[in-house]
Amino acid sequence: MIVAANWKMNPGLSEAKKLASDYCTAAHKGVTRILFVPHPYIVPIRKRLQGSDILLGGQDCHQMQSGAHTGDVSAGMLQNCGASIVLLGHSERRAYYGETSELVAAKATMAFETGLSVMICVGETLAQRNSGDALATVLQQLTISVPVTLPTTALTIAYEPVWAIGTGKVATVAEITEMHTGIRHWLYSAGFGRTKILYGGSVNPRNAAEIFTVAHVDGALVGGASLISADFDGICAAAVA
Ligand code: PEP
Repeated sequence: MIVAANWKMNPGLSEAKKLASDYCTAAHKGVTRILFVPHPYIVPIRKRLQGSDILLGGQDCHQMQSGAHTGDVSAGMLQNCGASIVLLGHSERRAYYGETSELVAAKATMAFETGLSVMICVGETLAQRNSGDALATVLQQLTISVPVTLPTTALTIAYEPVWAIGTGKVATVAEITEMHTGIRHWLYSAGFGRTKILYGGSVNPRNAAEIFTVAHVDGALVGGASLISADFDGICAAAVA
């Protein structure tokens, strides 16, 4: 199982250092923990994670190796600073920065060629779900966002229904089952037999155990609850229960 924390643009540096240290005090055998931090925190948080088995990741990277891209961060910079994985195609980046699946694929290719693993997010909006297009939307995002050249173990997929992110609404077991089964079939047919699929969207210590019983759920991508170390620990504990 994988439990990944997405801190987004939170919290302040001193709180972030304490949170990372708190993560390290708990051991969760059998769970791979990943921490996606804001870019300026990669170095200070790497120091806090030293000696732990928690992997460190960036929340985005540019599709080019270097150049005139003010404000952007390259995959190589993330790697130089201690990240081993990057989160790509999060719905907030797709919605607020107009990131297309084609761009996500270009970023994923650059990240992999640089030596990073990638976690690619996919998920439907409420309108797409209500019109019966949820699965088709997600399969199309996968088809375009995932470069076929990526090795299966360098890729993780996070299924995050957009309407469940930060809203307290969680997809039902039936909805998660349908989607994760569809994604699993797609992955197999595309040659990604060993790629893991995480669920994300308002996961917390109270709902995690049920979500982890669903077929083809290999863990969770956690936003809000990852900012409270006891909640993050509770989700990790549910992953091995
Ligand atoms: C996310 O942003 O990836 C996420 C899953 O957020 P939350 O857990 O807060 O819904």
